[in-house]
Amino acid sequence: MLFLPFEAVPLIFYWDGFFVLKTLQWNVYNSLTMSDSPDKNKAGFEPVSPQVNFPELEKERLARWYSEGIVNEYLHRNDQSDKYFSFMDGPITANNPMGVHHAWGRTYKDLFQRYKNMQGYKERFQNGFDCQGLWVEVEVEKELSLRSKKDIENLVPGDKKASIDKFITLCKERVFKFAQIQTEQTKRLGNFMDWDNSYFTLSDENNYMIWHFLKVCHERGWIYKGRDSVPWCPRCETAISQHEMLTEDYKEAVHESVFFALPVTGEEYELLVWTTTPWTVPANVAVAVHPEWTYGIWHEESLNRKIVILESGDWEEKVDPTKRVFEFVKGNWKKVGQVKGIELVGKKYTGPFDNLSAAQKAALEGPNSFHTVIPAKDLVTPHEGTGLVHIAPGAGSDDFKLGKMFNLPVIVPIDDAANYTNEFGPLSLQNAKKHPEIILDYLREQKFALATHHYKHRYPACWRCKTELVWKVADAWYISMDTVDPTDPQRQTLREKMKLVAQKITWLPEFGLDRELDWLSNMHDWLISKPNRYWGLALPIYECKKCGKFEVVGSRDELKEKAVEGWESFEGHTPHKPWIDEVKITCADCGETVERLGDVGNVWLDAGIVPFSTVKNHNQGDPLYLSNRAEWEKWFPIDFITESFPGQFKNWFYSLIAMSTVLENENPFKTVLGYGTSLAEDGRAMHKSWGNSIEFNEGADKMGADVMRWMFARTNPSENMLFGYKNADETRRQFHLKLWNIYNYFVTYANLNNWQIGESSELTPLDKWILSRLNSTLQSVTRLFDTFDSQKAAAEIEQFVDDLSLWYIRRSREREDIAFYATTYEVLVTLSKILAPITPFLADHIFTNLTSEKSVHLADWPGVKTELINTDLEAEMSEVRKIVEIAHAKRRDAQIKVRQPLMSLTTVTNITFTHDLNSILTEELNVKAWNHTKGDEQSLELDTTITEELRKEGDAREIMRMIQDERKKLETAMDELVNVALPAWPEEFEELIKRKTLISNLAKGEFAVTRIS
Ligand SMILES: [Zn+2]
Ligand SMILES: [Zn+2]
Repeated sequence: MLFLPFEAVPLIFYWDGFFVLKTLQWNVYNSLTMSDSPDKNKAGFEPVSPQVNFPELEKERLARWYSEGIVNEYLHRNDQSDKYFSFMDGPITANNPMGVHHAWGRTYKDLFQRYKNMQGYKERFQNGFDCQGLWVEVEVEKELSLRSKKDIENLVPGDKKASIDKFITLCKERVFKFAQIQTEQTKRLGNFMDWDNSYFTLSDENNYMIWHFLKVCHERGWIYKGRDSVPWCPRCETAISQHEMLTEDYKEAVHESVFFALPVTGEEYELLVWTTTPWTVPANVAVAVHPEWTYGIWHEESLNRKIVILESGDWEEKVDPTKRVFEFVKGNWKKVGQVKGIELVGKKYTGPFDNLSAAQKAALEGPNSFHTVIPAKDLVTPHEGTGLVHIAPGAGSDDFKLGKMFNLPVIVPIDDAANYTNEFGPLSLQNAKKHPEIILDYLREQKFALATHHYKHRYPACWRCKTELVWKVADAWYISMDTVDPTDPQRQTLREKMKLVAQKITWLPEFGLDRELDWLSNMHDWLISKPNRYWGLALPIYECKKCGKFEVVGSRDELKEKAVEGWESFEGHTPHKPWIDEVKITCADCGETVERLGDVGNVWLDAGIVPFSTVKNHNQGDPLYLSNRAEWEKWFPIDFITESFPGQFKNWFYSLIAMSTVLENENPFKTVLGYGTSLAEDGRAMHKSWGNSIEFNEGADKMGADVMRWMFARTNPSENMLFGYKNADETRRQFHLKLWNIYNYFVTYANLNNWQIGESSELTPLDKWILSRLNSTLQSVTRLFDTFDSQKAAAEIEQFVDDLSLWYIRRSREREDIAFYATTYEVLVTLSKILAPITPFLADHIFTNLTSEKSVHLADWPGVKTELINTDLEAEMSEVRKIVEIAHAKRRDAQIKVRQPLMSLTTVTNITFTHDLNSILTEELNVKAWNHTKGDEQSLELDTTITEELRKEGDAREIMRMIQDERKKLETAMDELVNVALPAWPEEFEELIKRKTLISNLAKGEFAVTRIS
């Protein structure tokens, strides 16, 4: 006799929040009670546990996928196909374990590659790691507790080259270590990739391909050396490029600002100037005013001082700069005169640090412009300060530009670590950022300062180490955005070309294009050099110190050919410091021996080149771009990339477009799916210190990767998402468990009924309806996946599973025909294929149990059976469900339970029912008859009269429910007979009650259900 524990065959299922009894079917009852044959289970599905543990199930699947070679079969199933789907992985920084926010993008990446694989496209499945750059250096420095560049260069005491070599080796090791960790994490997420052939941006071919790119830029005359005031991190001692300055790296900072007065030569008044960066005052060379605005002269008798501040101008808003200034500059100030801005222009003034050699040198350098008032309409605002602006070209980028315009001398106040240089007397070697008080104290003592106050503003910080940035004048190398391309007959600039290329791309969401164009319109030239650092692309720029000519080397072979020194020491090493710097070449103009520029490259060069450097046959060997262009063109432009939007417009998307425009004048990718930021459930960013961050492995093991993936696939990519355990629980309950219950129900009863795959009988309208829904869902999902819209696709699937659960299975629970099993089987097998890209674990579990095939991930994407789509039937069923909803509400209003049968329902709606849905409606509503007519006046009437006959039937159903509840409490086996005592029961229903609740002996007495043994 077949025996199943009660837990494995729940008699009671949850549907839509309330209990529904699954009563035993007569044939099942017979097979249980009258047959001892052990081999009735023809279907032979593995029994399903209702207490499913998804993370455990996932681990079991994961082990199987690798041990049985399923991943490998999956990767190569379309090797012979001539359809290509080219995906490019945006390289993840291999510097830390992956976070849950990375899992968002990785879900899309896997999802769409899986979908295309099922559709028969040949793919590369290459995963990428971003390896070089300051981010890695900073972490290695932390590990070794290094505090400065000096520490790095003394890792091997007294041997700088060996020290740098060791540091570079440690950077590489760190990258490989975390690449391995991230690989394991991504496997856990369910992704199938060609793990053995991931690309690393530190590879020789990646670095040399960038050389090739830079050489092309140089040939067009786009590479130049500039001197500019650049954002600078004093801890990392390097320039921070405009690309790297993200809004999130600005932080709220409070600085002590100062109002200081500068005596005007030949006048009684002083210029009142305000700055939030007092450390830059020693670098002051000019004061800017608005030439058309009016300034007031104010006198304070007890101080015996007169100051000039902005008074009025043609600004529209009601702002009074004088009032704001006197809020801080205390005293009994009285207005004694006026002066136009233009009258101030050209006046000379005395500065607080004029005795220092830096100032004296600047005075000699620009005797006409030093400490002079200059006009600058754009810099002067009535909203801030005094209307007189402190100009220090050596310490600010606007100031630097203005300095060029007015030919101002430049005082560079600080060194790479933000210490005052040795031209600043007592200030020398003091740290400008750490000790602003040395300036403030001096200004107060020397009576320059009239007031100071704490000022809160948003101030940029280093994106890696969070140190506040300074602006520093430095030599830097750029790619020009606005120099015309000499090889281009249309004489376009790189900026113009890039904007055209960006418009060829499909941006999802659509606003991506505007964001990219906005960046392309406003960005400066591309700063490609990073001074003073170690771990990065060796910029192949060789600048002659003697004559100034520079050369860009475009390949390893070219360097070898030009090398006049050091090739032997370099040979056998990767093109990194310190070994690459051994190689020297000769200046083509003057014959001088020239060494490589010490700088490393901007990291986005590394990631932008990957469409050229990483596309290889089976992800191995030489890049196809240079070795087999015809084959490379099959993969280029890339069909699809997906990354988180914030930052990437300036970074990866930008560098991909720039490099592809230079090399091919072509869009690097056809479609980009961008997505927002994942936040914690409290709506804040995830931070370890705030206790709201979720570590990936922990998240996967607690919520399950499939639940995580569903959340990501289902979310709106253009918005930020809230990610956490509460949402995960809700998702699991709403989707995964609902599906599991259906699957469990099917397997349980298909096994019990000995249903065999292929067996069927005539389909009911309900069966036809769910098969129509299945195929129309499949049709929509296919269309949505084709446009990379997983959000709507997942919503369609959710709706379908709801229909399946809340209507099809629910309405089928009394059925005894095998058409039900045949239909549900077809639905579940097809559904598992549709789900395979989103929930690879659950889909594979269901599929393999139902089909005994190896894996759903080796299956084809199902074709839509359009002949099964019946839109009329779907519309009619939808109408039935609407009617049912209203009728149930009427029952509730009349306080009549669903178990109480009623005589009839009469409806008028504007629909004619062409399918026989009568029994579906009457059974659901527990009414004896349904009368429907088509008409414009819609109405619904439920006959609530309860006759004696109806009451008895209702009582019988109530009794059955009570007995089932007791059986559940007693934990009886589903096939276990029980004895029941009842005070009374309607005799005409006695047989039904006994049969449906498996009663051996029914006796009169107080209500009780007892086990027989
Ligand atoms: Zn830094
Ligand atoms: Zn030279």
